Amino acid sequence: MSMPKTLLPGSTVGVLGSGQLGRMLGLEARRMGYRFVVFSEQADSPAGQVADVEVVGRYNDLNAVERFAKQADVVGFEFENVPSATAEGVARYTRVFPDPQVLHIAQHRLREKESLAQVGLPVTPFCTVRNLSELQRGVQKLGLPAVLKTASAGYDGKGQAKIDANSDLAQVWQSLGTQEAILEAFVPFQKEVSVVCGRGQDGEFAHFGVFENLHHNHILDLTVSPARISSQLEEQALTIAQGVMDKLSVVGVLCIEMFYTQGEQLLINELAPRPHNSGHLSYEAFSMSQFELQLRTLCALPLGTISRIVPAAAMANLLGDLWSYDENGKVSQAPNWCEALRSSGRLHLYGKAAPRIGRKMGHLTVWGEDSDDALAKAEASRAALKR
Ligand code: AMP
Repeated sequence: MSMPKTLLPGSTVGVLGSGQLGRMLGLEARRMGYRFVVFSEQADSPAGQVADVEVVGRYNDLNAVERFAKQADVVGFEFENVPSATAEGVARYTRVFPDPQVLHIAQHRLREKESLAQVGLPVTPFCTVRNLSELQRGVQKLGLPAVLKTASAGYDGKGQAKIDANSDLAQVWQSLGTQEAILEAFVPFQKEVSVVCGRGQDGEFAHFGVFENLHHNHILDLTVSPARISSQLEEQALTIAQGVMDKLSVVGVLCIEMFYTQGEQLLINELAPRPHNSGHLSYEAFSMSQFELQLRTLCALPLGTISRIVPAAAMANLLGDLWSYDENGKVSQAPNWCEALRSSGRLHLYGKAAPRIGRKMGHLTVWGEDSDDALAKAEASRAALKR
C-alpha cells in the first residue's frame, strides 16, 4: 500500500455521482475549506448545485471522466452503480476510495455474498440462479419462503420477488427478466440494523454505533439511534462491521446492513460502499456527520473521536408522496414545511426540482430523551407535513 497522502484544506475533493449523498459530502468539504468537483450525468444536480465545478457527461464518456479526474486530488463515491470502467478510468489520473474493486464486489449481490462468506463473515443463506432448474434446486436447498433478487442493478426492493409455497417458479423466473440472480432464504428477522463506519488509509476505524431501521415498501422509512438492542449485540454488530472493513481493505465510508434474526443471529444483508440514508442522523446525533467522516478518510486526515451529543435521534425519510398532485400528475401543493420547523428537529431537503411518488426528496431528524421518544416525535413531525 502506498503511503497515505494527507490532503489539506484548499485541495479538491471529487465525487462520482451527483445525488443527495454527494451534495452532503460537498457541503461538508466546503465547510472545511476544500474545493469540490462533481461528475454528473445531468446539469444542476443536487451535488452539482453545491460544487465548484460540475462536469457533465455520460459514465461511458471517458474524455469527460478524464476531464473530471484531472481536477480532483482524490475521488469518492456517492452511488455504487457507477460502471467499474468509469471508476478505473478515474483511478488512472487520481486516487479513488474505496478501491474500484470494492465497488465491483458491492455492485453484484452474488459477488458480495461470496466475498463475505469466503472470509468467514455471516451472510443470509443463498444460492446462484441462472435458469429455472437452478431456481428449482435452490428452492429445495434453502426451503420456502425465499427471496429471488437480480444479481446486479437492484435497489430499494426493485428486481426482487418473494417466493412462497403458492408461487409458480417458472413465472417468477420469467418476470424477473434476468440472466443471473441470487436466491436467498427469507430471514424471519426481529429487527433490521445497520452500521455506518469509516476506515482510514492507515487502517483506523470509526463508527456511529448501531442504527435500527424500519422499512416501508422496501424503502428505508425511519432510522433510530441508538438501536434498541442489548450492548452485547451492539458489540457483535460492530465486530462484524470492522471485519468487513478490514477483510475487504475498505478505505472510505461504508454501510453494512444486517438482519437480527429470531434465532438471535446477525446476518449481513448488503453493503453500500458509501454514506447511507440510515447514517443521516449522524449530523444531529454525533459530533461528526457521516460525510465529514467520508471526507476525513478521503483526505487521510485523523478520523478523530466520534461522540454522541444527544441521548437519541430518529430520522424520517421524506418521499415525493408527501406532495399533493392534480389529476395530470402535476404538483398542486408542497408539504407544510413550517409545521416541521415547529418541532425540535432539523429539516434537510436535497434540491430536487421535481417530486415524484417514491422519490427521496429529503429527511428530517428529531432528537428525543430515548429511542422510543425520538421515533414517536419523528413520525409525528412527518405526519404534520402532509396537507
Ligand atoms: P435489499 O434491496 O436486499 O436491501 O432488500 C430490501 C428489503 O427487503 C430489506 O431491507 C428487507 O426488509 C427485505 N429483504 C430483503 N432480503 C430479505 C431476506 N432474505 N429475508 C427477509 N427480508 C428480506
